[in-house]
Amino acid sequence: MARAKEVEVKVKTSPVDSKDEILRAFGIELGGSVSGVAQGGSFVEQPTGPKLATHDPSTGNVLASVATATAAECGAVSRSADEAFRRWRMVPAPRRGEIVRRLGNAFRERKQDLARLISLENGKIMSEALGEVQEVIDICDFAVGLSRQLYGNQMHSERPFHRLTEQWHPLGAVGIISAFNFPLAVPGWGWAIAVACGDSIVWKPSSLTPLISIAAQKIFHEVTRSTEAEGIFNLVIGSGATTGEALLADPLVPLIQATGSCALGERVSTAVGKRGARAILELGGNNAVVVLDDADLDLALSAVVFGAVGTAGQRCTSTRRLILQRGIADAFVQRLARAYATVNIGDPLDGETLMGPLISADAVEAFLDGVATIKAQGGDLLYGGEVLPDRGGYYVQPTIFKSRGDMPVCAEEIFAPILHVFSVETLEQAIDLNNSVPQGLSSGLFTTNLHSAERWLSVAGSDCGIANVNAGTSGAEIGGAFGGEKATGGGRQAGSDAWKAYMRRQTCTINYGTELPLAQGVKFELHDA
Ligand code: NAD
Repeated sequence: MARAKEVEVKVKTSPVDSKDEILRAFGIELGGSVSGVAQGGSFVEQPTGPKLATHDPSTGNVLASVATATAAECGAVSRSADEAFRRWRMVPAPRRGEIVRRLGNAFRERKQDLARLISLENGKIMSEALGEVQEVIDICDFAVGLSRQLYGNQMHSERPFHRLTEQWHPLGAVGIISAFNFPLAVPGWGWAIAVACGDSIVWKPSSLTPLISIAAQKIFHEVTRSTEAEGIFNLVIGSGATTGEALLADPLVPLIQATGSCALGERVSTAVGKRGARAILELGGNNAVVVLDDADLDLALSAVVFGAVGTAGQRCTSTRRLILQRGIADAFVQRLARAYATVNIGDPLDGETLMGPLISADAVEAFLDGVATIKAQGGDLLYGGEVLPDRGGYYVQPTIFKSRGDMPVCAEEIFAPILHVFSVETLEQAIDLNNSVPQGLSSGLFTTNLHSAERWLSVAGSDCGIANVNAGTSGAEIGGAFGGEKATGGGRQAGSDAWKAYMRRQTCTINYGTELPLAQGVKFELHDA
């Protein structure tokens, strides 16, 4: 077994596009200052909130400084978004879809530029950054079709000469609070659908990835300028405590789509619930892969390495727990450690890199705290566990621990490439362990046995919002509804019928007779009228 001190980590650096050029593609100067607030179809020239520095996680160097919104400026933005909504809701849905089609095409044209910017500011490798832009393109395509399918139901009324029907109306200005790790795709799942549904947008991105949202906002402006959609996209960059809280409290924002930690979800539920508004919560995961003795182990190995090491363990769906059936456990862990040793760690813009840096110095601290806590609770370090000290930036080793399910730390989401390995005797024990954590986002079972696969997907199987067979925990497609149960928040975004959360449902009874019969046979007859 490879122990931490024996690990030879390959850190690659190679010439990449000049960082200056990557920023200039969106009119941003390296080291320069930009506005992080947009309303009514253009950027506010000088927002007066505190300046925010954004960093290149591969070096720790500052990329640019962003002028943020004050709470009062947020209020002005949501008023503007509400006015835009009142116009936009009157535009027929298929015409709204046409704007989303143009947006999708604009993202297609700028795919490389956007991916480079994501890779630069977020630190994910180019292939994943390209995939992130592709998700936006895909959800736009989905939303274009959806704009002709915002259907309601028709029910048979119990009353004669009555028709009972339900219809869906646009909702209002949707507040999109987004996380750093999917700075473009997850907000895109929201805005593409919401805009087709007739809503306007107020986007509050993560303070760790503001330039990506500014670049996207520029594309929104280019596409919507002088169209009936002008002003529907609005941006408020700033801290959670100011701009985030302002959105949560704003009566002009009837829906908050919040992506982030479970702690964020608690705050959003309280604040939004208090004013009778709605939330779509997409929160933390603690995702497990189960590998049974009869599994195709090559398949399982690739899925586990991608799930645990990919995106440097910074996906909500990252594989954090590996549950192995006893017969294959030792050999599988040895193969896993050998596979980890082949992972190129380095500059995310280099096409050969498989793992980039963590997002920030705080994230590196959280990784180190996690490693120390796991050790203190009895975890046995099998691989990695250290920061890579030989360069600037926020690089750590992908890490494997042999852990026990009763260690409290195994119930936490540590947002870093740390994998707990457990072994079990039976599928039932694996399901219990999978379901034993507070979160319920994604899960995957590897088996060639039909009975095991169906049991895993049955009501007594995985309790997660996503349950896969012979596929890992990461890498969902936009066609399905995405989201998780329990502390993950219960929200659903992207495909299937997730659009319903972005509209308001109205049930209508139409009486086309000359009597007024009451439901449930209730009699209420006036005698002397
Ligand atoms: P985070 O919770 O630190 O921040 C998320 C967003 O919330 C940021 O924009 C932040 O500024 C904002 N925020 C913070 N405090 C706020 C407040 N009081 N009011 C309003 N907004 C506030 O999360 P992060 O570190 O950016 O992202 C990582 C987390 O997101 C992980 O837990 C990950 O699992 C989760 N995530 C979940 C999904 C999903 O779909 N389930 C997708 C991506 C990320």
